[in-house]
Amino acid sequence: MEETEKKALLEKLADLPIMQYAFLDVSEIQFRERVRYICETECPQYGKSWACPPAVGTVEECRERCQGYQGAFLFTTPAQVQDIRDLKETLAAREGHEAVTRQVRDVFQEAGWKVRVLSTESCAICGACSYPQEPCRHPDKMFPCVESYGILVTELAEQNAIEFQMGDNIITWFSLVFFRR
Ligand code: SF4
Repeated sequence: MEETEKKALLEKLADLPIMQYAFLDVSEIQFRERVRYICETECPQYGKSWACPPAVGTVEECRERCQGYQGAFLFTTPAQVQDIRDLKETLAAREGHEAVTRQVRDVFQEAGWKVRVLSTESCAICGACSYPQEPCRHPDKMFPCVESYGILVTELAEQNAIEFQMGDNIITWFSLVFFRR
């Protein structure tokens, strides 16, 4: 992406509560089977959502899908909670980040970019996910989890000097927007 195109996008994103961001080369993103193994063995959402494995495909399929893009925009938003160990409260605090992610997607699309968006945690739009009996009810709003693609988002953050340990009871949410013409 040209510097002038980045500048124009950033001007349009300036009013959103984005804490930090980085433009990435897709080649610097690793797609790891090890991350998928953690989904499979440790995440209660494995096999329960269109936003998670195995519904998102194999790690190799995810890598091939993403490598068709020119670059990626990684960004964070913060959320303050009373108790970060309270999963219900933590997940409820995520909706603001999902709304910002939809706005970021729209800014890229309005500028003529085709996008693939990954966000944070499993999708929670519906009370009960339709997976696997019926197709996803909101494919335009649903963003697969970054980790479901085998991507370790904290690794990308460290590589790009993005803070993710903001102190007690502050959550850092991540999204990753792949873009191409
Ligand atoms: S939008 Fe609904 S059906 Fe689609 S992944 Fe999310 S919870 Fe499941």
